Amino acid sequence: MDILVILENNQGSLHRLSKEAIVAAQKLGKSVTALVMGSDSDKIVGHLTGYDLEKVITVGHDLVSSYNADGYSEVVRQVTESCSPNIIVAGHTYQTRDFMPRVSAKLGVPFIPDIVSLSDQGFIKQVLNAKLNAEMSSTSERLIISFQSAAFSEEELRPGSCSVEAFEATLDASGVRSISEEPFQEEAGDVDLDSAEILVSVGRGIEKEENVPLAFDLAKAMGAEVSASRPVVDSGWVESFRQVGSSGSNVAPKLYFSLGISGAIQHVVGMKGAKNIMAINKDPDAPIFEIADYAVIGDVLEIVPKLTEALDRS
Ligand SMILES: Cc1cc2nc3c(=O)[nH]c(=O)nc-3n(C[C@H](O)[C@H](O)[C@H](O)COP(=O)(O)OP(=O)(O)OC[C@H]3O[C@@H](n4cnc5c(N)ncnc54)[C@H](O)[C@@H]3O)c2cc1C
Repeated sequence: MDILVILENNQGSLHRLSKEAIVAAQKLGKSVTALVMGSDSDKIVGHLTGYDLEKVITVGHDLVSSYNADGYSEVVRQVTESCSPNIIVAGHTYQTRDFMPRVSAKLGVPFIPDIVSLSDQGFIKQVLNAKLNAEMSSTSERLIISFQSAAFSEEELRPGSCSVEAFEATLDASGVRSISEEPFQEEAGDVDLDSAEILVSVGRGIEKEENVPLAFDLAKAMGAEVSASRPVVDSGWVESFRQVGSSGSNVAPKLYFSLGISGAIQHVVGMKGAKNIMAINKDPDAPIFEIADYAVIGDVLEIVPKLTEALDRS
């Protein structure tokens, strides 16, 4: 099975979901080719040379020096026609959601997006607000698939080597009608939840806005960033960029420390990729304990100040 994995160039660094997509590609087929576009492709290639890939294809055309859906979809079409992969794989990022349907239409091949795992028969997708798992398969000779955040862990990346090849795409300015704005830059002082190694995440169990500083104090003592569940954001107790979940960020820190979060599926989809999950909740039956590595049954308002004090003393 020949696999083409489309990588996302995050201003010269490889998007975490692209690394997870490579893991998926390595599990799916023997021959994995990676495609990277954009002006900083060289930096991405530097990240890739230690992975077990058949080859890395770079496209340095001016019309795809930065992301635009028309140019990217046309390049993927041309590379696909040249390499003839059986499966085209990508991480399910905002960019993938934007341009991959166009690739599907241009090539006339089905696209199964947002897959959470592989099965013997095909691919598992969550449906009905993640209440059910559906198994999908295709009889098409070629298929496009994308994987949900944390479907695989980048730690499973198979090391090895690869060759690098430049692809001469034929692009015409008249065919690149969509223009993307500059990538969104968070304001100075905003946090990047995606790259935080430790997150202290505050839920409605914190009870009221005046108690939220307890989470920030604990985060400071642990060298962590603060994230939150949606009700805490909706109440205006913390900024919206801190929200984790299906309508917030997807995170994969080394430690996710949840304080008074129930573990609703819309929250869990955003943090289930954490390497370790520690949860404090006063309800022993809280769903968060089903996925927690460390469970503390108790009152956050009692435990958190004591923990912060102990960490500050140590
Ligand atoms: C379309 C859609 C999208 C959504 N997107 C998101 C999203 O992106 N992110 C998100 O988080 N949610 C999202 N939600 C909401 C989600 O369904 C849950 O309602 C939400 O995650 C619950 O947040 P919570 O766990 O903080 O609050 P609750 O569910 O109210 O849980 C509070 C928990 O705190 C515990 N508790 C209470 N007091 C204490 C105490 N003193 N000490 C210890 N524990 C205590 C309780 O036992 C309870 O388990 C979405 C919902 C929908 C319908």
